[in-house]
Amino acid sequence: MPASENLNIAEFHGDGISAELSESIHRIAEDLPLEIRFQPIDLSLENRQVNSEEAFEEAEAAMHSHRIALKYPTVTEGISPNKILRERFNFSVIHRPVVSIPGVKTRHDCTVDLHIVRIAVGGTYEDAGRRVGSEAAVSVRVIERGPSEEAARFGFLLAQRLGCNLVSTSKHTIQRATDGLFEETVEEVAKDFPEVQHQTELFDALLAKLIMRPEDYRVVVCPNEYGDFLSDAACGLVGSMGLGASASYAFDEAGNTDLAMFDPAGGTAPDIAGKGICNPAAAFWAFAMLLEHSGFRALGGCLAEGVRDAIGNGQSTQDLGGTLSTAGFTEAVSAALKNRLTGEGKVKA
Ligand code: ATP
Repeated sequence: MPASENLNIAEFHGDGISAELSESIHRIAEDLPLEIRFQPIDLSLENRQVNSEEAFEEAEAAMHSHRIALKYPTVTEGISPNKILRERFNFSVIHRPVVSIPGVKTRHDCTVDLHIVRIAVGGTYEDAGRRVGSEAAVSVRVIERGPSEEAARFGFLLAQRLGCNLVSTSKHTIQRATDGLFEETVEEVAKDFPEVQHQTELFDALLAKLIMRPEDYRVVVCPNEYGDFLSDAACGLVGSMGLGASASYAFDEAGNTDLAMFDPAGGTAPDIAGKGICNPAAAFWAFAMLLEHSGFRALGGCLAEGVRDAIGNGQSTQDLGGTLSTAGFTEAVSAALKNRLTGEGKVKA
């Protein structure tokens, strides 16, 4: 297909199945009507052990030049590369879509199409805490207005685009200062989006309702740790812990998205690395989010749906009960993508 536009992407390589995921991404990139250039950065443990500072400096330079990155799983040994990248890039919002996967067995027969938008910093995660004597311990929990506002604005813009309502959730009746500040900030941002219906739900009640009626929820905005819990709970609803994609965003002073990094949420899967059997679906969904973010919304949609088409047609890797290798599944997605690109409406870049 002739390429009509360019896209430059920083590509952060990691460990385990990272190389196989990257190979699949490059294969699918060939099918897109775009001239895509990847700038590879080696964030593998091997390289980090000898060139840590240089590796992250390179990642930072590539990110600042392209503003978008695709990241593969990295091993955490001592320091967490994800934490370092988050701090260097000033990521303040994480977006995790959780969508039903055709053919994947779940306890529900409804379709889940949920977007969890969380503050990427603070909550209970910044402070490991300390012991007070031998019988007690304390830690500090932080909520800041800035990242709360960015998460809320991101969530409202998403809800506006999807034409759905937005739920903010926390324990503001108990954590009155911290979660109270979060909800107060969301309320303020809500005034700019009168067409989006906004409800506040207590986090414990939300979990119960989500499990009973997941189809009632589309965009949920919350503080850091609640978003972490909620993402895994929602993945359980669609029957897969490791098959989600995640996006991290940093914003400029005017509140516009400045830097964005997309990654498959799963780990490095060392037990199957190098065997050619890992499932690249989440990496494809991360790539689809990157395309959508970069203005190629229709292409991203075709890729995301193409992955679902392939799985729905029974073409899947072993982890989903199929028989295909990573390369075989990638070809199945390529065919499904081409079908969507050349089918009805002939999607253009
Ligand atoms: P890490 O320390 O990087 O989190 P891990 O092995 O502890 O690695 P995961 O990488 O999440 O955790 O793997 C958990 C299980 O899920 C493993 O058995 C792994 O093989 C499987 N798994 C993870 N990702 C994939 C994938 N993309 N395709 C197939 N199986 C996967």
